[in-house]
Amino acid sequence: MAASPESLIFLPVTARAERLAHRLADHFPEARVEPFSRAALGSNWRKGVGLVILGACGVAVRTIAPLLRNKKEDPAVVVIDESGRHVISLLSGHLGGANALARELAAILGTEPVITTASDLAGLPAPDLWAEDHGALLRPADRVPAFVAAYLERGKLRVFREYPLPLPGAWEEVRRPEEADLIISYRRLELPPGKLQAVPRVLYLGVGFNRGTPAETLAEAVSAVLTRHGLLEEALAGVGTLSSKAEEEGFRAWVSEKGLRVFPFPAEALSREVEERGLSVSPAASQSTGALAVAEPAALLAAGRRARLIVAKEKTPEVTVALAEARSRRGRLSLIGIGTGEPAEMTPAARRALREATHVVGYGRYLDLIRPLISGKETFEAGMTREVERAEKAIELALAGHRVALVSGGDPGIYGLAGLVFELLREKGDLAAFEIEVVPGLTALNACAARLGAPLMHDFAVVSLSDRLTPWETIERRLRAAAEADFVIVLYNPRSRGRPEHLERARRILLEYRRPETPVGLVRAAGRPGETVLVTTLGTLPVEKVDMQTTVFVGNSETFVLGPWMVTPRGYRGRRF
Ligand code: SAH
Repeated sequence: MAASPESLIFLPVTARAERLAHRLADHFPEARVEPFSRAALGSNWRKGVGLVILGACGVAVRTIAPLLRNKKEDPAVVVIDESGRHVISLLSGHLGGANALARELAAILGTEPVITTASDLAGLPAPDLWAEDHGALLRPADRVPAFVAAYLERGKLRVFREYPLPLPGAWEEVRRPEEADLIISYRRLELPPGKLQAVPRVLYLGVGFNRGTPAETLAEAVSAVLTRHGLLEEALAGVGTLSSKAEEEGFRAWVSEKGLRVFPFPAEALSREVEERGLSVSPAASQSTGALAVAEPAALLAAGRRARLIVAKEKTPEVTVALAEARSRRGRLSLIGIGTGEPAEMTPAARRALREATHVVGYGRYLDLIRPLISGKETFEAGMTREVERAEKAIELALAGHRVALVSGGDPGIYGLAGLVFELLREKGDLAAFEIEVVPGLTALNACAARLGAPLMHDFAVVSLSDRLTPWETIERRLRAAAEADFVIVLYNPRSRGRPEHLERARRILLEYRRPETPVGLVRAAGRPGETVLVTTLGTLPVEKVDMQTTVFVGNSETFVLGPWMVTPRGYRGRRF
């Protein structure tokens, strides 16, 4: 339940701290560095900002003292000593996100954060963070600070649920809206003073329209339907339509203005839904589009599994609109690459995706590398060879509406778990059920090549020597083809305890095509404890030093060694530069 500041400002007190500030700021695309001063603090003193003071606590405390207002309005403040050894969450630990920020900064610096708040505001979950976690919107927005303050004062919260968003155990569910402080509903409500509404984004439109319908006409038709049924536009999450319509100019302009996610469906999928659900057939749609109907099946399909139609189709001469309610909020599955495990080699996008996830699935050893970033999140760990189990678990959690991070080392799409997820989804045939994003990571060959110098400056081929999922004959055929074509060759999974002979076999094959003096680079455990780099040759390769944490680089006929470096020239034969 970690909120993260929207913007981050690093305020170094000394010149030495300034270097540290820039190093840290590089990890956050939204961060900037300003010299520490009372004025700099004052002008940035507002909720939603994260202030990182690099200097002594005494200086920090004396300077912020006159600016302090209250828990609801103060920004998150973290203090780091100028050597970067201690990261202290000083102010707005929970609500402002200073604890989460301190954890993240400490992870980057390879140290432990100092966090002194009792867990969860002494058992009181914050409504604004809860809403954020569940993709709900609190309205009216200007009542939120006073509401939260009153709630903290009172120490309890009564909730009426018209829509079943999950509630923290500490809140009390009541049976009538009049008894509630917070009402969860996507309807237009008259709220008495002091009460708040949480609007879940769970409504999905289905629209059919004539060719060339302008954006305004679509907007008017939809807002008329919403008004007629007393529904809030804020509850709209997405819109389904026929694939061929999704490209139309008016439609595109409308969805981008409203920020709606688009779910395009082919005519056959819409017709199948009509038949399976026994929806009414539209002769007009059948004639012009080939689908038995458009609006109703598109709304239901967009809203995912076990959706419910809440507004049957309503027509204007140009537009047909239907509305479906998703049974739970649409989940999200982020397929994340964490790089080598060295915090500086993880991208800010991967950090962001991890931060936003409530559930994390991965191989235990990879999760160990990012432990400080995932504290407080539900984790599911399964062993090395249980990839299918991990991918299925991640899909299951996303189907249940959670925000799930499936963690791969390096890049998720390079011998990682991304492909497996898509294969499983192809079998299930359920692409619209949750959102998917793939977040790239620094793959072993990038990280290791950099440590070797520049071995990959020319065309290269990557081969995994693991025959767990690929027959050895295929591996051998690819090795021969790459060797024959004079590619630099990168070997992943070069040697495992179960099959220690693979690398030696590969070496013999390569020696049929390359000279024994061909440079070979070995990088083991890049970015992890025990990292080693070795440049050797194909003839003398110490096979026994290679294990599953090693990546092997075999040079092409031009690759040379320069001091500790392994370099493949970019030019062709005779044209080196
Ligand atoms: N998805 C990962 C690769 C998984 S396959 C990525 O993109 O990097 C596992 C293989 O990757 C290992 O056997 C090893 O060859 C290589 N590898 C992964 N991490 C490594 C590291 N930190 N140092 C050296 N090689 C690594």
